[in-house]
Amino acid sequence: MDLSTVQIPVERVAHSKRSEVDFNHLPFGKVVTDHMFICTFRDGSWQDPRVVPYQPISLDPSAKVFHYGQTIFEGMKAYKDTEGKVWLFRPEDNQRRLNISAKRLAIPEVPKEIFMEGLKTLLKTDQDWIPTAPGSSLYIRPFVFASGKGFHASPADEYTFIIACSPSGPYFSGKVSVRIEETYSRAADGGVGFAKAGGNYAGQFYPTQLAMADGFQQVVWTDDHHHEFIEEAGAMNIFVRIGNTLLTSPTSDRILDGVTRKSILQLAEDEGIPTEVRKIRVRELVEASQNGTLKELFGAGTAAVVSPISSFGYQGKRYELPDLENSYASQFRKRITDIQYNRAKDPFGWRFPVE
Ligand SMILES: *Cc1c(COP(=O)(O)O)cnc(C)c1O
Repeated sequence: MDLSTVQIPVERVAHSKRSEVDFNHLPFGKVVTDHMFICTFRDGSWQDPRVVPYQPISLDPSAKVFHYGQTIFEGMKAYKDTEGKVWLFRPEDNQRRLNISAKRLAIPEVPKEIFMEGLKTLLKTDQDWIPTAPGSSLYIRPFVFASGKGFHASPADEYTFIIACSPSGPYFSGKVSVRIEETYSRAADGGVGFAKAGGNYAGQFYPTQLAMADGFQQVVWTDDHHHEFIEEAGAMNIFVRIGNTLLTSPTSDRILDGVTRKSILQLAEDEGIPTEVRKIRVRELVEASQNGTLKELFGAGTAAVVSPISSFGYQGKRYELPDLENSYASQFRKRITDIQYNRAKDPFGWRFPVE
């Protein structure tokens, strides 16, 4: 296949489901659009990229994804501005990261042209599905999994790449209280924590259920050695504000390199906010809380943009965060969403037109 002239055929649905959807009351990630993009890796190359009606897929029970969890994903969004133009936010970063995940999971990398052309063709086909109510967007889920057969624990000989889309309302969790994890770990050195690999999330569910049973909504993951340093907030990167300084943990084998995280770091630099990217001790949070300098804690990720934290639990105690007027979290949320929805200048070239 000549990738420079990738042409994606489109098979349209006979009847759109769009009129059945209430676009003013969209949940997050539950409604799907009419179409999906699909492409198969077989005989050593990615083949047959196409847009087809959204539909179930049929897999052999021995498909390796079921047994060995050889599966990766991405999460991104498309936005419609007031003139009806469609935008993505730093999509090439998601494309690159999908292949970073692919490499670590021994999945064949998806050529950039297939990812980008497949995504654009799908978005054009389903553009009427991009919601315009405040805070809503089209959530986009690209994923690749081992569809090849066989019970032998080894990489598959066939893979499927799909992009599916979900018109979604604002991802609203309110302010969350989190528990700083002291027993379980999300990721380990040399492992796959930096990849968006399915198993990373499966492994989070149980410790998160335990935290919920104790009255928290989310877990703050700590390092797997001594649970001494904070690393991520659920499936989001974590930020701390002590005094006026913004802190976040450095990315590593264990910490995912989030697009939202690095956008916030660049905005902070642009605004002259003092920033430190370094390991953050749980002790330091506790002390800052006790001496009144701990101002904010928030998660950062594509779905929620920023997710403010109202309190954290650690060693059986609760520590409350103040309720700030003009918080960093709300400032970053506004600056990022204004760029995403084409309401503000885009000094960093983050906005990507779909045309
Ligand atoms: C996806 C993800 C993030 C956030 O990444 P974004 O690119 O900002 O969406 C952070 N941590 C984990 C574990 C993730 O899976």
